[in-house]
Amino acid sequence: MSSPDPVVIVGGGPVGLITALGLVHYGVPVLVLEEDDSLSLDTKAGTILTRTLEVLARYDALTPVLAASLRIDEIGELDRASGRSTGSVLTERLAEETRFPFVINIPQHELEPVLAARLEELAPGTLAMSHRLVDFTDHGDHVALEVDTPEGRRQLRADRLLACDGGRSGVRTHLGITVEGHTLEQRYMLVDLVCDLDVASPRDYPYLAYFGDPQEWMILVRQPHCWRFLFPLSPGQPEPSEEELRDKAHRFIGEVDSLDVIGTNVYSVHHRVAARWQVGRVFLLGDAAHLITPMWALGLNTGVLDASNLPWRLAWVARGWAEPSLLEGYEAEQAPVAINGSGEMAEAARAVMDRRLESTDAMAAGGWGDAMTRTLLGVRLDVDGSGDWSMVRRTPEPTPVRLGERAPDLRVFGAEGPVTLHELCRDSFVAVHLTDARRRPEVPAECPPGLRQVVVSRWDAPHDSDLRDRAYFDPGDQVRRRFDAAGADRIVLLRPDGHVAFHQPWSADAADRVTRHYLALIGRPATEEANR
Ligand SMILES: Cc1cc2nc3c(=O)[nH]c(=O)nc-3n(C[C@H](O)[C@H](O)[C@H](O)COP(=O)(O)OP(=O)(O)OC[C@H]3O[C@@H](n4cnc5c(N)ncnc54)[C@H](O)[C@@H]3O)c2cc1C
Repeated sequence: MSSPDPVVIVGGGPVGLITALGLVHYGVPVLVLEEDDSLSLDTKAGTILTRTLEVLARYDALTPVLAASLRIDEIGELDRASGRSTGSVLTERLAEETRFPFVINIPQHELEPVLAARLEELAPGTLAMSHRLVDFTDHGDHVALEVDTPEGRRQLRADRLLACDGGRSGVRTHLGITVEGHTLEQRYMLVDLVCDLDVASPRDYPYLAYFGDPQEWMILVRQPHCWRFLFPLSPGQPEPSEEELRDKAHRFIGEVDSLDVIGTNVYSVHHRVAARWQVGRVFLLGDAAHLITPMWALGLNTGVLDASNLPWRLAWVARGWAEPSLLEGYEAEQAPVAINGSGEMAEAARAVMDRRLESTDAMAAGGWGDAMTRTLLGVRLDVDGSGDWSMVRRTPEPTPVRLGERAPDLRVFGAEGPVTLHELCRDSFVAVHLTDARRRPEVPAECPPGLRQVVVSRWDAPHDSDLRDRAYFDPGDQVRRRFDAAGADRIVLLRPDGHVAFHQPWSADAADRVTRHYLALIGRPATEEANR
C-alpha cells in the first residue's frame, strides 16, 4: 500500500517549523519546503510569550528552546524621564495558571535553528532546504506542486498545502486572496548592541523593559548575547548614524563604559490581514495570513496561535476521526483574533508607550489580567460561532473559566502520579466531569475515537467504583472552583489545544451530552451506538 501524501508546509520560518513539529507530534506525515539554503539570519522577533511556550511543550520542543534563551519574570514599564517603574507585569501572577510562569528572550535567528534541529531529531528529513514552491493546483483530493530543487524542477503531491511563506506569501497571491488593513507611517528601528550593564555599569532593568515617553519611547530587551533597543522612526526620518544611535542609547541608559553596535534593522509596521485563510485544501498561517505590528511580541506569537489551532484538526481528519468540516473552525476562530484582538493590543501598546493613557482601556486591568493578556494566555476563542471571543483580560483577579478560554494548566493526581490538565488533553479531547467521584458518576471508558472521559474530584475514587483508571484526585477542589465560582458540578470538554469546547452544569446524562457535542464538532452524526 502506498504511503499517504504528506501535508506540505511552504516556508521554514518559525511558524512553518512549529506547525511541522505539531504535525509530527500528532503523527501526520509532513514535509517543509524552504526556498533559501539557510534559515533566516535577520534580526527579527526576540520575545516568546508564555502561550507559545505551552505550544512548544505540547509539541515536545520546549527543552532545547529554553536552553538557548533567557527567562524573564517581569515585563517592565518605566518612565523614560525619571527611570521609575510605572507598573511592571509580574509573571508570578500566573503561577497557578501555567507550568511556565515566565516569558523568554531569544532572537529569531537563534530560535529557528533550534526548532529545525528538534524537527530533525523527531522526524529526520522533514525540512527540505533550497526547495522553492513555484506553482500548485488544488485537485480536490490532493494538491499538485511544482517545486524547484537543487536537482531541478520536481512534481510533488500534497494532502494539504500550508502556506507559512511570510508576509509576501506567493501562495496567497496565487490564490488571489486580498489583504486588508494599513501600514503605519512610523517605521521601527531595532539595534543590537553589546554593553556591560551587569558589572561595569550595573543597571537593574528588567530583561524586557518598555520605556514610555510622549517624545521618544523605547523597548529594551536583553537577549542571550546582547542588548536590543527598539524605537520608532518618525515618517521620513532617515536611519540614524552609529553616533546618533549611541547618543540615543546613552539618553535612555545613561553613561556606560563601552557600547558596540553589532546589528541594526529598520522595518515598516503593518496591520494587514488576509481576507480568507482557507481555500479548499490550502491554508494560510503566520505572516502569510496576518501581518501584525511586532509590538508586545504580537508578530511571531500571533502566528503560533495558528500553529496551535490547525495541526490537531488536520490530525483528526487524517486519522479518519473527523470530517473536513472540522478544518473550517481554524479560520473562523483565528481570523478575528488577528484582525481585532492583536490590533486592539497593539494599539493599546502604542498608546501606553506614547503616554496617551486615556486610550489604554485594553490594559487597564492591572495584575493578573495584565499578565494573562501580555503573555497571550488570555486568548478566548469563538468556539461556538457566537462571536464571543477576546484577547484581553480585564479583571485584576482570576475569574471562572469560560467557554472558549484556554483552561488553566492545573495539576491533579492520577493513578500514575501528578499530571496537568494540558498534559491530559495533549493528544485527545478530554471530557472532564467535575463532580463527586464517591457518587459513581457515569464516566464511560469506551468513547468515540479522539475522546476520553475522566472524573476530577476532591474525593479520591473509591476502589470498588470502577473509576480508578479514569479518575483524578483534586486536593482542595481547585479545578471545580476555577470552572465554577460557586463550586457547582460542571461537565467541560477540553480540546487538544487546551481550549474549552463545552461547559455546562453537570447532571446524570452529562456523558451523553458531551459525547453528542463532540460528535457534532467532528462532523459525525450522533448514532444510538455512539451515544450509549
Ligand atoms: C525587524 C522585525 C522585528 C520583529 N520583531 C518581533 C518581535 O519582537 N516579536 C514578534 O512576535 N514578532 C516580531 N516580528 C515578526 C516576526 O518576525 C514574524 O511574525 C515571523 O517571522 C513570522 O513567521 P512566519 O514563519 O510566518 O514567516 P517568515 O518568518 O517570514 O518565514 C517565511 C519563510 O517562507 C520562505 N518562503 C517564502 N516563499 C517560499 C516559497 N515559494 N517556497 C519555499 N519557501 C518560501 C521564506 O524564505 C521564509 O523562510 C518582527 C519582524 C521583523 C521584520
